[in-house]
Amino acid sequence: PLQAGIVGLPNVGKSTLFNAITRAGADAANYPFCTIDPNVGVVEVPDHRLQGLANIVHPKRIVPTTFEFVDIAGLVAGASKGEGLGNKFLGHIREVDAIIHVVRCFEDGDVTHVSGSVSPERDMDTIELELVMADLESVQRRLERTKKNLKSGEKKYAVEAEALGKLEEALNEGQPARLVSLTEEEQAAVRDLSLLTAKPLLYVANVSESDLQDSPEDLPLVQAVQRRAERDRAEFVVVSAQVEAEIADLDDEDRAAFLEEIGLRESGLDRLIRSAYHLLGLITYFTAGEPEVRAWTIRRGTKAPQAAAVIHTDFERGFIRAEVVSYEDLVAAGSYAAARESGKLRLEGKDYVMQDGDVVHFRFNV
Ligand code: GDP
Repeated sequence: PLQAGIVGLPNVGKSTLFNAITRAGADAANYPFCTIDPNVGVVEVPDHRLQGLANIVHPKRIVPTTFEFVDIAGLVAGASKGEGLGNKFLGHIREVDAIIHVVRCFEDGDVTHVSGSVSPERDMDTIELELVMADLESVQRRLERTKKNLKSGEKKYAVEAEALGKLEEALNEGQPARLVSLTEEEQAAVRDLSLLTAKPLLYVANVSESDLQDSPEDLPLVQAVQRRAERDRAEFVVVSAQVEAEIADLDDEDRAAFLEEIGLRESGLDRLIRSAYHLLGLITYFTAGEPEVRAWTIRRGTKAPQAAAVIHTDFERGFIRAEVVSYEDLVAAGSYAAARESGKLRLEGKDYVMQDGDVVHFRFNV
């Protein structure tokens, strides 16, 4: 499964947020194959379309798709030089598909800040510098090897050297690799480096409860995070980790009431999950039958047989075709039978590229 790693300086609210994530977490009974790891929080991806489908097929149960967050504690200034958990920590980041960087925007005299005062800009600089330094080291190490290989005259080494040169220059100036424009060939040549600053990035501005009602424009600290997100081609979400921790144990009804009271439509966690999902280029398709209505996660651009494999690998091997109707068409028709009659139910073959919101029935040989 795809995972997003939560990073940030000490005392910014990472654990508070991660605890809220695990406590609000997915009902384990529905996901018997999920990882059991204290550092991994499995959450359900909220999607109103599940209920829309349930209204049509009246299933025994509804199963949302899930998303995983990993708690990557221990990043401090100097990590790239081996301070704190240093390299171990950076290795964990290398394994995740996206980075969620929590930035402290709440003022609280009782909670010490590692640098003595609250400054999102300085905090973001500190973390970014560590990641940039780690990447610079990877790039330079590889570049030495590539330069030796260049003598062989093979074209692929020339491409690699070109890509590494561009990356080295940018990283040397403190720029994340994400901002370097590389050709597709160049990207492929350096992909296995898993550069930390090339990963999709989401900034979370952690604000105090009283700031939640304000618009971000009125909060200078939040604005600083938002500006940085734009510069870094990253996504951006405002959350109050403390509020999320407070509402994590409430049932859906109480949570909705609480959110309404403080003037919010959905929880910060739901927004966070949605953003992370978007950040990773993920889309959802559905299966809808009497036993269950269920959401499944795939990457944008996935074809039907590979989408089927998410349900079961046999589905891909024996794939014959997919019966597909879009969520909107099915809801408008009101039933499968009506959708079929009006020609909205399509038969698609192995080259069909799945669309977000497709409701699918796979036909396959076993
Ligand atoms: P971590 O070191 O980044 O994991 O930070 P923690 O989650 O342990 O939070 C550090 C302290 O800040 C704890 O005492 C939290 O209760 C507090 N904290 C976290 N989020 C908020 C918040 O939104 N507002 C306030 N006032 N305190 C918070």
